[in-house]
Amino acid sequence: MHNTNDILITSWINVPDNSDFPIYNLPLGIIKHKNGRASAATAIGEYVIDLSALQGLGFFSEISLPNGIFDKDSLNEFIALGKPVWHSVRKQIKSLLKSDNGKLRDDKEAVSKCLFNINEVELLMPVKVGDYTDFYSSKEHATNVGSMFRDPKNALLPNWLHLPVAYHGRSSSIMVSGKNFHRPKGQVAPPGSDIPAFYPSKAMDFELEMAFIIGKQTESGQSVSNKEADDYIFGMTLFNDWSARDIQRWEYVPLGPFLAKNFASTTSPWIVTLEALEPFRTQAPPQEPEVLPYLKRADENTAIDITLEVWLQAENTDAVKICTSNYKHLYWTMEQQLAHHTINGCNINVGDLMASGTISGPTPDSFGSMLELTWNGSKPITLPNGQERKFLQDGDTIIVKGYCQKGNLRIGFGEAKAKLLPAL
Ligand code: CA
Repeated sequence: MHNTNDILITSWINVPDNSDFPIYNLPLGIIKHKNGRASAATAIGEYVIDLSALQGLGFFSEISLPNGIFDKDSLNEFIALGKPVWHSVRKQIKSLLKSDNGKLRDDKEAVSKCLFNINEVELLMPVKVGDYTDFYSSKEHATNVGSMFRDPKNALLPNWLHLPVAYHGRSSSIMVSGKNFHRPKGQVAPPGSDIPAFYPSKAMDFELEMAFIIGKQTESGQSVSNKEADDYIFGMTLFNDWSARDIQRWEYVPLGPFLAKNFASTTSPWIVTLEALEPFRTQAPPQEPEVLPYLKRADENTAIDITLEVWLQAENTDAVKICTSNYKHLYWTMEQQLAHHTINGCNINVGDLMASGTISGPTPDSFGSMLELTWNGSKPITLPNGQERKFLQDGDTIIVKGYCQKGNLRIGFGEAKAKLLPAL
């Protein structure tokens, strides 16, 4: 396979400096036109390219693609065509957008049918998510939460260094960036009490996460090894796993989170492919004690250097950055997560979404949740307008951003943004 990440190429479409979507990225998503038609698309600079229109114009005629494969409201059927097809389509789009290729550039009528300003379209959920799994793979996050919820001396439970802990989440409430939701209500036991009360959560939090999208299904009984894992992963998104800490604290023993987390999760609309992310691979954290053979990394260079930011925007104020972290801090890589997920023969499907768990770094400004940033409310954050936050207030918007940079090569993920509305 040829690598489509050859650098030093430019596009005939103007791409602003520091854009998340230069020609090296070419993420995939689903757009909705003003007339209601949905289509698969890629983003470049401040534009989107309608892939359904591009196929209709014959620009994919050299690739074996079913008719209308992009004329859909999800990417699932395209993704199911497999990695060689993803690669060919990416290569063709890249070729068509290169500065020195006049095929599309000089065909004004074709350009008018497939090129749109990003503000002219709505961005929809990129995939139909079948199953959603949420890992808990940041050692720093697990240590911080274990210290606050249990015991600082035994913050990590005995299994944590031996397996990537996870739970099965709920896919129905995964929403695309821009969809707001209401503060959840639930059972909460006041500190020191075993008798719950019922009211809207008073400890609403975000969780800075990333997710990977499954690109190839397995049959029941089949396992995916660390070495094979990348063939089963289509790409990644930003992810915010909203959490109600007071509800979580009361309900989570013994089976883990339930209503504290299943009311809303926000994903970014563009899936950045694993192929676009390859140049940003980096050394994963060393693992001690040694893991069981099925969890051993096939390659130590399987972390990805993705700078992650969380911005908080209180109503009628500017957004302020409250956290800077990095995906590379995760103790368990996504290849290890997938190997563990399938080691018992659990089958996976195209469009399944697997989230990383909160990605906290080693320093206090890199903690990926309000719970950790304010240390359970004991160190409130002061916003530029003078207001304080222990947890989130109604009207607060959380914006997760992420990008990779290596020399002059920079690609980004756009954003996962949503506002917390008052409880109904
Ligand atoms: Ca989570």
